[in-house]
Amino acid sequence: MSTDGRMPPRVRIAPSPTGDPHVGTAYIALFNYAFARRHGGKFVLRIEDTDQQRYTEGSEHAILESLRWLGLSWDEGPDVGGEHGPYRQSERLELYREHVAPLVASGKAYRCFCTRERLDALRKEQMAAKARLGYDGHCRSLDPQQAEARVQAGEAYVVRLHVPEGKTVVTDRLRGDVEFANEQIDDQVLVKSDGFPTYHLANVVDDHCMGITHVIRGEEWLSSTPKHVLLYEAFGWEQPQWIHLGLLRNADKSKLSKRKNPVSIIHYRSLGYLPATFLNFLATLGFSMGDDRERFSLQEMIDAFEWSKVSVGGPVFDPVKLDAFNADDIRALPLPELQAQIAEHVLGSDRIAALLALSHERIERLDDFIPYVSFFFGGVVDYSTVLPKLKIKRTLAEAAKILATFVDEIERDPQGRAFTPQSLEAFSRAFCERHEWKARDLFTLLRVGAAGRTAAPPLFDTLALVGKDRFRMRIRDFIGVLKTQPKPAKG
Ligand code: GLU
Repeated sequence: MSTDGRMPPRVRIAPSPTGDPHVGTAYIALFNYAFARRHGGKFVLRIEDTDQQRYTEGSEHAILESLRWLGLSWDEGPDVGGEHGPYRQSERLELYREHVAPLVASGKAYRCFCTRERLDALRKEQMAAKARLGYDGHCRSLDPQQAEARVQAGEAYVVRLHVPEGKTVVTDRLRGDVEFANEQIDDQVLVKSDGFPTYHLANVVDDHCMGITHVIRGEEWLSSTPKHVLLYEAFGWEQPQWIHLGLLRNADKSKLSKRKNPVSIIHYRSLGYLPATFLNFLATLGFSMGDDRERFSLQEMIDAFEWSKVSVGGPVFDPVKLDAFNADDIRALPLPELQAQIAEHVLGSDRIAALLALSHERIERLDDFIPYVSFFFGGVVDYSTVLPKLKIKRTLAEAAKILATFVDEIERDPQGRAFTPQSLEAFSRAFCERHEWKARDLFTLLRVGAAGRTAAPPLFDTLALVGKDRFRMRIRDFIGVLKTQPKPAKG
């Protein structure tokens, strides 16, 4: 079947490997997938890894694994190949260079030699004058020959898009025409001084070269789309159709964030949500079957898929609803199937080898195994019995505060983020020095918060195995408990 009598659609998701795979990526992938499958089109997976500073080792693998777990299979991608590869932007750098040269030659883009100092000074001036922040077009009218001579002389430069006067209209399938005044659009950097393309350039070149017909992505990219429309115009290319889905939100309507909800797909997998249930839950956030039915399969969604059934109003990611869906689906499983699923979840996971190694020397009977490792499973833990045993030389209010700082800083630190026993230890010791906390006190809090026990296997092995998301969730919960305790702890 075709859309609008045209060729079958080609759609894509283009995640950046900058951390754990986000549930927002799964949400966008689901809608791309359903649309492609509905119309016999192709679903492409492209890795946008040109931002070397934010690149996280292992993230690409985790993204692919998570989408595989959900059963959202792609037709072309870095692992399966395809006619339009390579599917990693870092392997396509030559292509971006080739494309930017004619833009510079025709004056639609230009080289900018402004130094960091000049840009900083400009910014300060604009802030003082309460003017719009952005590039002032200083290098726009440089003589091309002079610019070339400066390049030859080795001067550092970026390439910027020359944004013309007027306005730019983004025609969005779900939102209608969205108009942007061009004076609000910065002369966007297309190529950075290190020669790497920016997101905007690489994204547009790739979508065009990969024959993408519909760009289906999150609302957070809508403000970038006028820049992309201008780039399509500068290149003289036909635009894809634009579809910006609503941004997932916490219950309080703020943007879904890990401060309030676990946002990593890995977390939901490790807690034992069923992948089909998880997809059904995600689908209900922005799609309706046209009747009151909330429970439907992926295939049913595909068969019924139409844009008129997709809504963009702030979809709320409600964990209570997810739990209810999952409980229903577990209840509906025949017992042998449930047994197989639990066996797979417990014994088939990568964690089992590590759990065995950890308990090997510490259990006396086989039967001790389950109680010994029980806190590695499940969500939040009960702190009521352990709190009276908590001995630290700080007040509980200080404890709550330092833990909040810990979960905040761990994400921003490469060692913290890596979350292996070694990196956790290095991060935590440095953290103690930085904040002048005794390691003993902080480590006690981490152990109690993460495990709900005062004695647990070696701390950093424990934290790594509890896992980053479960750790964050429990510490957040523990902070809440600490804050509501009446008495300070005695050392
Ligand atoms: N690399 C962007 C991301 O991380 C892609 C956005 C888009 O779909 O254009 O989500």
